[in-house]
Formats: sequence, C-alpha cells, structure tokens
Amino acid sequence: MDTTRLTQKSAFEWWLEASPPMRVPGILYANEALLREMDDKVLEQMANVASLPGIVQAVYAMPDAHWGYGFPIGGVAAFREDDGVVSAGGVGFDISCGVRTMHTGLTVEDIEPIKEDLAQGLFRHVPAGVGSIGKIHLEPAEMDAMLQGGAEWAVKQGYGRPEDLERIEEHGRMEGARPELISLQAKRRQADEMGTLGSGNHYLEVQQVTEVFDTRVAEAFGVAVGDVLVSIHSGSRGLGHQVATDYSRQMVEAAHKYGLELADLELACAPIQSEEGQAYLGAMRAAINCALANRQILTHLAREAFAYLLPRADLRLIYDVSHNTAKLEEHLIEGKPQRLYVHRKGATRAFGPGHPALPEAFRAVGQPVLIGGTMGTASYILVGTPEGEARSLSSSCHGAGRAMSRHQALKQWRGKELVRELGQRGIIVRSPSPRGVAEEAPGAYKDVTAVVDAAHAAGLSRKVARLEPLICIKG
Ligand code: 5GP
Ligand code: MN
Ligand code: MN
Repeated sequence: MDTTRLTQKSAFEWWLEASPPMRVPGILYANEALLREMDDKVLEQMANVASLPGIVQAVYAMPDAHWGYGFPIGGVAAFREDDGVVSAGGVGFDISCGVRTMHTGLTVEDIEPIKEDLAQGLFRHVPAGVGSIGKIHLEPAEMDAMLQGGAEWAVKQGYGRPEDLERIEEHGRMEGARPELISLQAKRRQADEMGTLGSGNHYLEVQQVTEVFDTRVAEAFGVAVGDVLVSIHSGSRGLGHQVATDYSRQMVEAAHKYGLELADLELACAPIQSEEGQAYLGAMRAAINCALANRQILTHLAREAFAYLLPRADLRLIYDVSHNTAKLEEHLIEGKPQRLYVHRKGATRAFGPGHPALPEAFRAVGQPVLIGGTMGTASYILVGTPEGEARSLSSSCHGAGRAMSRHQALKQWRGKELVRELGQRGIIVRSPSPRGVAEEAPGAYKDVTAVVDAAHAAGLSRKVARLEPLICIKG
C-alpha cells in the first residue's frame, strides 16, 4: 500500500481523509510494515464504503485487513438505522463465520501420550473438506426450526449442554430470523451439511496455552499456561453462501429503485428500511443461527471424540463469537447513543467491560476475542477494551489475515510436505485435502503476532493468552 496517501495519527493509526464522494474518513489500524504489505485495493474499497448513505464516524480497517468482495476483509462500517444501508458484501459469503474456544480440563501432559490417536479420532469423527456431509439430514420443517433456534435448537436435539448457551454470542440464538426468506436452493445445500467444518481455512484445533499476558483476565476466562483448549472455526456452510449470493444479486437489481449509485457492483446494498434490506436482514439472521447450530454440533462431535479416548476430559465452552455479521447495536456517536447496523466482515466484535450483552463471568473484564493464526503458528485470545468503543465501534482483528492468494500459495507449497514438516515440529495436521493444506500454508498468512500486537497497541483489544497448535483438523 502506498502510505503517502494516508495521514499518520500515531504509530498504529492512519487516516484516509474524507474527500468527495466519501462521507466519512477511512481509519486503518496497523503498524507501517503491515500497511506496506496491504494491497492498495483496501483503500479503494474503504473509499467506496465510506461513500455509502447513512454511514457514521468512519470506515475502519483492522490490522489483518486485505481486499475482499466489495468490502475489505477486516473491515468495519456502521450505518444509521433510519437512513442507512445494509450490504450483503459487507457481511461476506460465510455469514457468521466465527470461532469458539473450549477448555478441555486437561494439560499438555495428559494429551501427549495419546496425541496421534486423538488426532485420528477427531479426524474420523468430524466431517471436514469441501462438500463434506454430516450424519444429520434436515427435512424442511426441521431446517426451519434450526434456522429459528440456532445453538438453542442444537442443544434441544441433544448436541451439547444448556450451559453452553450462555457462552455464545446472542445466547446461542439470533432473534429476528426469517427462514421463509431463504431460498429452497440455500436450504437444499444445507440439508446434509450440519456439523461439518467446511473448506481449508476452517479448522478444529487442539491448542496449548503457552503464555499468559494478563493473569486477571486469563483467570476470568479460565485459562492458564499448560492448559489444553479446543478451537473451532467454521460458519454457515452452503446455506450462508447461497443467502449471500441470492441477496447480492437482489440488491444489485434493486439499487436503481433507491437511487443508489454503486461504485462497485460487489458493494451492492439496500436501504435498511426497504423491503430488500429487511428481507436480507431476516435471512442473514437465520444464517447466523445456522452457523451457531453448526458450531454447536461440531462441539458435540469433539466431545464425543475426546470422551472415547480420555473419559475425564470435560470440554467447557469459554466463548463463541462471529466475525462476519451485520448487527443492530447501540454506540456513542458524538456523545449520543445511536442505533446502528454494524457490519463486521473479517472483524471480531470486541465489547469492553460492563457491556450488558456479556455473560456475567466476563462483565468485569470484557469479551473474549478469539483470533486464529495458522496451523503452524500461534493463535491468540484477547479481550475487549473500554477505548475500543470509540476507536473501532468495539471491533478487533479476526486472524492473521491472508498475505497472498490461495492461487499463489498453491504455487509455493505442497500439502503433503507441509504436513510432514509440521509433524516434525510436533503439530499433527489431518485434512482430506493436501491442496487445501497448501492453500492455507502458514507462510501464506501475515505474521499473526504483528497483527495482534497492532490491535493491542491501538487499543482495539488487549492480549490475554497465546496458544500454540498441537493437532489441527483442517477442511
Ligand atoms: P477467515 O475467516 O478469514 O477464513 O479466517 C480467519 C483466520 O483464521 C485467518 O485470518 C487465519 O489467520 C486463521 N487460520 C486459517 N487457518 C488456520 C488454522 O489451521 N489454524 C489456526 N489456528 N488459524 C487458522
Ligand atoms: Mn468461514
Ligand atoms: Mn472465518
């Protein structure tokens, strides 16, 4: 990225000043090295988003940002409820993709002797890969119940425990879902995909806590050095993808009706209060429930695989948070509370201490912010900060962020070699697709530690614990 186009406000904050047709500035949080690595297209996309009606304050780029469909991945933008817009491209194709992390009640010493068997057990038990199918088949009526009920539905079906729900964003169920506004094609795609991880960037990882940066918060989250955790990264599978496809098209077609001039068709959007805008929101909320139910079923499968080998394992949910959503939230804008639709695409909600949406256990410290790294490097747990509210509407990064395309990665790495090399370092990777592994090579991502340090230094969220992979089941 050409940083001369930006005004530097601090070591970690850079502004793309608002010039017409932009209505608000673009604010990027990153250090200079990360910015230089970022593609210029991020700025172009930020300028396009900043020009949309009803946007407030600024469009933000998190330190892991890279260009995406319409909106940058790692982008945050909020729109007024009355005259703003909602954009399918601003949420992304994997609606409510997110991460959940569980404690296993075990330490590294417990895992080491059975690590190979555990990897094999998890790999056999948890369906992974493009087009993989699960054991559950949903008939239409059950599909609608799932789309209304989310993780709450899954628990009622026997997948997991009622106490899991309080540790999930929205308590496991997104209100306002409209399953009837989801196409038959989307539902058909999902009929056999519940409880499946999906493609290569999605994973189920067994991790060890190798460092704690903030003991008080780590205690509140229940994690300490040497503990073994399980993280699941997955989303709304075929259904979410189809909803995004269907509504992007619909938004492009409706744009002229509302006088919206689209700088980029991928940025298709509709007024929040329009029929199309409301329909998308209802369908998107149902897709959020699909993702929450999916991660809940995956949790159940992980518990079964652990129980078979280690009956005393107790997988307790720490937290589950999405990084691809548009949600109605109240934020302080110029000192006044305003109801806004906050788009976070490849950005994690990061509420600070005291936020009423947080479970009691985290009220005093803030929300856990769960960040993937790669299968060969660290991942992190951070916590939302009070200052994050003003800085980024309580949002933080969502991962390391890609440094190169999947296509480029395929030219540089071979999946089988990567699996062997990682194995020599004590990291067991199991995937149905060597190609998927190559696309997700650790070297294809930015340095997660640099990204997380930038989020920390910019005050978007604070570091709590560093995790290292032991076993990675990849899509
Ligand atoms: P996305 O939602 O954009 O596909 O991915 C989120 C983040 O997950 C990526 O930016 C990347 O840092 C991280 N990630 C991808 N694959 C893996 C993996 O196998 N293990 C871990 N721990 N993180 C991963
Ligand atoms: Mn995803
Ligand atoms: Mn994701």
